Amino acid sequence: MSIAENLKRIKAELGEDVLLVAVSKYSPDAAVEEAYAAGHRDFGENKAQDLKERYEKMPKDIRWHFIGHMQRNKVKYIAPFIQLIHSVDSMRLLEEIDKQAAKHDRVIPCLLQMHIAKEETKFGLDESELFEMLESDELATLQHVKIVGLMAMATNTEQTDVVEQEFKGLTEIFNKLKSRKLHQNVSMETLSMGMSGDYKIAIACGSNMVRIGSAVFSNE
Ligand SMILES: *Cc1c(COP(=O)(O)O)cnc(C)c1O
Repeated sequence: MSIAENLKRIKAELGEDVLLVAVSKYSPDAAVEEAYAAGHRDFGENKAQDLKERYEKMPKDIRWHFIGHMQRNKVKYIAPFIQLIHSVDSMRLLEEIDKQAAKHDRVIPCLLQMHIAKEETKFGLDESELFEMLESDELATLQHVKIVGLMAMATNTEQTDVVEQEFKGLTEIFNKLKSRKLHQNVSMETLSMGMSGDYKIAIACGSNMVRIGSAVFSNE
């Protein structure tokens, strides 16, 4: 199947309320161009410098998402243009994003990354760290970032019940936060969960944003 056919099939599965971020990190420029020609505009990358290079040579109406582990000294590369940073996992990182966004007179939308998987290797906050960040007075002072939701990766396993339990747990936290009074720069709208291997489970559990790489860009 072609990239255009993959996009069409996956979008039909997702329905209108779930945004597809096409993860292009392992794909050549030609593949991004093919998806763009098919009308796709949201793309995800996980390396700040690679993303900056792509941004510079690709059409300017692409909405770029940062999905990788973010180092503070790399924020400056993407601050001028990034649509959404999915992977904020500390106050120090958020402060750096705020500082860089201020230089460009922007407010950068961010998701807080949660650790829900069994694997220790995955990044993210646990529930108590999440609440600590959201309730901190410091967060209220940041004027150039906005927290718009949560992101997480499930355990990489064939056991769908494990994945489902992890996604459901995150949705519960998300819904709990939605009904709370939070700082004015926090608005729980986006739940970014689901990749090529588990997006169907994720949307059944309430995801409204999926990050899909291989299922979009492989031509098997
Ligand atoms: C690479 C990556 C994806 C996409 O993975 P696929 O399995 O190729 O769909 C999604 N989210 C994150 C955080 C990633 O690093």
